[in-house]
Amino acid sequence: MKRILPFLAALAIAAPASTAWGAAPDLAKMSPSDLAAFMLPFPKGGELHNHLGGSTPAEDLLAWAVEDGLCVDTAELAFRASCASDGVKPAAAYAADEALRSALIDSLTVRHPGFRDRSGHDQFFTSFARRRMLPKRDGDALAEVLDGLARQNTFYAELMVTPQIVASRGLGAQVGWKGDPAATRAALSEAGLEKLVPAIVSDTDAFERRAREVMACGNLQAHPGCQVTVRYLFQAIRQGPPEQTMAQLQLGVATVAADKRWVGLQLVAPEDSADAVKYYDVHMRIVAELTDKGAKVPVALHAGELTAKLVPTRELSHHVADAVRIAGARRIGHGTDLPQEADADALAAEMAAKGVLVEVNILSNAAILEVKPEDHPYAWLRKKGVPASLSTDDAGITRTELSHDYAAAVRNGATYDDLKTAARNGIAFSFLTGEGLWLDPNVYRKPAAACAGQIGAETPKGSCADLVARSDKAREQWRHERLLKAFEAQASKAM
Ligand SMILES: [Zn+2]
Repeated sequence: MKRILPFLAALAIAAPASTAWGAAPDLAKMSPSDLAAFMLPFPKGGELHNHLGGSTPAEDLLAWAVEDGLCVDTAELAFRASCASDGVKPAAAYAADEALRSALIDSLTVRHPGFRDRSGHDQFFTSFARRRMLPKRDGDALAEVLDGLARQNTFYAELMVTPQIVASRGLGAQVGWKGDPAATRAALSEAGLEKLVPAIVSDTDAFERRAREVMACGNLQAHPGCQVTVRYLFQAIRQGPPEQTMAQLQLGVATVAADKRWVGLQLVAPEDSADAVKYYDVHMRIVAELTDKGAKVPVALHAGELTAKLVPTRELSHHVADAVRIAGARRIGHGTDLPQEADADALAAEMAAKGVLVEVNILSNAAILEVKPEDHPYAWLRKKGVPASLSTDDAGITRTELSHDYAAAVRNGATYDDLKTAARNGIAFSFLTGEGLWLDPNVYRKPAAACAGQIGAETPKGSCADLVARSDKAREQWRHERLLKAFEAQASKAM
């Protein structure tokens, strides 16, 4: 909590003079600097939408590339594992020359608008291929994310990762499409798809071991990131033939069943790309078949990360609805087109009633979709009572962090109480197992009976202690409420 002090002055200016914390500070009246200082230590609960492959700052990638002896393709400004071909230079040459280094960082991020005459969308989605590191760096990337969240007083993350992509998609290609999801599923199992699970478990062990080593966990110099609880979402690529996407998803289902660290599925890649549009309906039916409409395995899906610039308007009418109603998604990534979907009011009411959350990515949408924070439908979602959380998406490419998304939400009209709800939603709607600390997620007035009157206390007592001990979700919520109480206590002193 050391970092709390700098924003106290900001609060003293912005908060109504004579109030207790009950009248929270008016964030809209804060200057950008005051808001930045306020948002960094504000406990943000959990980050539910973060792709490990897009999270790393370009500077870290360059440093790892130098250590690992990688090269840079001088025309593409992309990392290459091999230095044998023409047109490459050692990464070390890029680290040693400011002009080269700067151009490379431009290539790996969206910081330079119009770079290579690409739109934000194209620059963003093509950068993944230019950022490729050796697989052994997954643990380094994980450590960077966890330390970054801890630095922002946030201690839960669900990260999207793509394990065993070559083997699983290869098997999908070998088996082919058998006419419908059920028959294809049987053929993939017959071909031995689920036998890839042990390799994923050992890959997970390896990258977690490396992350703990980088963060010096268990030593006196342990980084704050060691305190962050992390789970993984198995992401499948929605491009290529559907049997290849299905092989990934089916392996994801088996992985979630086998390893507690893996908690759900995701479907990724540009939603406006040709295959994503062509197979959208097939993908929804595949997810429904594999997960029993989300009943068997938790499902979060990218849906509605679209605008009329990217797709024919008819495509804006049904992606979120299909993800919820056909695939059984419990969470929607982005949902930016939701107000433009057919009968959007009814869809929003259904999501509010079912508790389907939207993972809102304000700054990613600004960079990729050119939707300004003040125009983002997050305001509409709040008005309609649709649960929402805030997340970064790909902070290494957008060159942002979670606290920036929280600050941007204020430009969207979000109040302190809205942000408190978004942060609590980041744990309540996570795929952590166990009973929650709250009976009314997205409202947060009714604690679980066992914990009534205790929330925010130092240590849970009696049956509340039992609940916190047996439930992963309640444990993270308990920790968040303590952090929140400490944050508000510090802040109220400044008023
Ligand atoms: Zn995403």
